[in-house]
Amino acid sequence: MVTTASAEISRRQFIAAGGLAAATACLAPTALFADSGDVLVPGGLKAAATAKVTVQALRRNLSVLLGVGGNIVVLTGSDGKLLVDAEIVTARPHVSAALANINADPVKQLINTHWHFDHTGGNEWLHEAGASILAQENTRKHLSEVTRVEGWKHTFPAAPAGAIPTTVFKEDHTLHANNTTLILKHYLPAHTDSDISVHFAEADVFHTGDTFWNREYPFIDYSTGGSIDGMIRATEVNLATVTDKMIVIPGHGVVGDKSQLAFYRDLLVGTRERVAALKKQGKSLDEIIAAKPTAATDAKWGNGFRSPKDFIGDVFQGV
Ligand SMILES: [Zn+2]
Ligand SMILES: [Zn+2]
Repeated sequence: MVTTASAEISRRQFIAAGGLAAATACLAPTALFADSGDVLVPGGLKAAATAKVTVQALRRNLSVLLGVGGNIVVLTGSDGKLLVDAEIVTARPHVSAALANINADPVKQLINTHWHFDHTGGNEWLHEAGASILAQENTRKHLSEVTRVEGWKHTFPAAPAGAIPTTVFKEDHTLHANNTTLILKHYLPAHTDSDISVHFAEADVFHTGDTFWNREYPFIDYSTGGSIDGMIRATEVNLATVTDKMIVIPGHGVVGDKSQLAFYRDLLVGTRERVAALKKQGKSLDEIIAAKPTAATDAKWGNGFRSPKDFIGDVFQGV
């Protein structure tokens, strides 16, 4: 499948592009202050500038855009387009082209599933183009201030004023647009402390944000409230919510369903158990990585944003 292929090349693109950026940075005097491991964010910015964004029709008036950054859901109708998430900022020409491919209507509303740059990168240009922005209040908080993500070795400056959500909520929020009811729910801290799910009720499409990654190991952002236990808890909530008929949109990876969500839950729980047991025996992170606790899924799941080593490191930190 095309979408699988694009998901699988994303990590290689990130690393290749990031390595290039890091090499260039070494020639500049500022390299003295640069963070040597700061590869993923620059790589993502580079990769998204060239990677194509594909459109996949879902049900009723819903489509998903698949690119390097977070998956975007598009809801169309007489109220104008509503988007869930906004990709990496450099993906703008590709996102614009994909949106124009669907129809000529303007984007009137944007919902952010959480604050990360690969979901909010388009906030400013979409807001300038006329979209209001809705998010959980911690998304506004993190975008409004300098925020360090240790897992990416990257410090984000405060976002420009136009990128800050115009409306925020704490726990739950329901809205209506294009003959569709959207039910938004805040998770307890999981991938970050700002994660929400978006359920398009009539179409029965459920966007999990980055609490679910399908056929790619997830990233867990401990710097802004995430943890492996929070990810497992959010996945249990997702499984209790999702039915067999629902289409499940992960934050990253291919469009999924309940059985894939259940597989992901078992993957998180199993990895947590194995890593925790080895850590309890006194094994170091390097020793645990060498023991290959994720061997069964590495070939399929280890080629996205996070390598097996990255994912094991994220789990190790929280057990
Ligand atoms: Zn993401
Ligand atoms: Zn994220």
